[in-house]
Amino acid sequence: MTNSTIIDVQDLKVHFPIYSKGLFRTIQGHVKAVDGVSFSLKKSETLGLVGESGSGKTTLGRAILRALKTTEGTIIFHDGNTEVDLLGLEGKQLTDFRRNMQLIFQDPYASLNPRMTIRDIIAEPLECLKLYPKDKINAKVREIAELCKINIEHLRCWPHVFSGGQRQRICIARALITRPKFVVCDEAVSALDVSIQADIINLLVELQQKLGLSYLFISHDLAVVAHISTSIAVLYVGRLVEHAPTPALFAKPLHPYTRALLSAIPTIDIKRELSPVDLAGGVPDPSNPPSGCRFHTRCPHVSDVCRRDVPKWQEWGKDHFVACHRVKEFMN
Ligand code: SF4
Repeated sequence: MTNSTIIDVQDLKVHFPIYSKGLFRTIQGHVKAVDGVSFSLKKSETLGLVGESGSGKTTLGRAILRALKTTEGTIIFHDGNTEVDLLGLEGKQLTDFRRNMQLIFQDPYASLNPRMTIRDIIAEPLECLKLYPKDKINAKVREIAELCKINIEHLRCWPHVFSGGQRQRICIARALITRPKFVVCDEAVSALDVSIQADIINLLVELQQKLGLSYLFISHDLAVVAHISTSIAVLYVGRLVEHAPTPALFAKPLHPYTRALLSAIPTIDIKRELSPVDLAGGVPDPSNPPSGCRFHTRCPHVSDVCRRDVPKWQEWGKDHFVACHRVKEFMN
């Protein structure tokens, strides 16, 4: 952790109880959606979080924003010279602090209220948090609309007249109107066409440079994440398996799961031989994860130690962390 860190997450766990059926419901087990995740994010940088569906990406993002209850761990938000323990905030303190952390949703169609005008949608966080007097809100809405390249005339319209890309600009404006320092982008471009995806990614990068934002960019698409992220973390069944600066991860992925994800990225280079790694089986059940290395049921390099012992989270290059028993063999 350095002075420029904005979010520091240590050993975060989010376990959901599984209740029995019947009148007297008892807890029978837990779905370990996030199970001991640690990382830090620097100011004005982007951490890409990738993994298959069900790996715990969205749960992790929402737990950091305090939209979900956490089971264990710490989340420290560095606000200037002040350290804020996010899990220690409750009630009004938490509500007031929410202006610093916002979420951009995946689905720009479902996340906008069809009965509200664009002006009212963008202004809603300011009105809920009572950040400015009423007569100042219109000016703030116009300011953020211009930054997000929304036509001022459109503020009087309703969401149904807009395309997916325009709607996502509105969602971004709504998230940024409180001037947060940290934003979770949860599959923020996954529902859009490829050309519109590029447009929105460019807008997010531009806004990051202008406003000094830090992003946690959640996606299942490594190619999209590569365009925006300073570093990338790979999540598998609730645990990080690799975290590295983006160029290092693409140049030399060390974990077999990361290598499999990278090999599956489609390419238009017809000279490149496509040899996607074929992973056996599906993602394990997070309520009953495999012993030892959680990836051992699908890993082509599995050995006895993998089934028995949990691999240590170790640094194998500058800021390049991997959890794998056989990582030395993949370094050459
Ligand atoms: S620890 Fe073993 S099973 Fe897990 S990724 Fe490494 S080689 Fe594969």
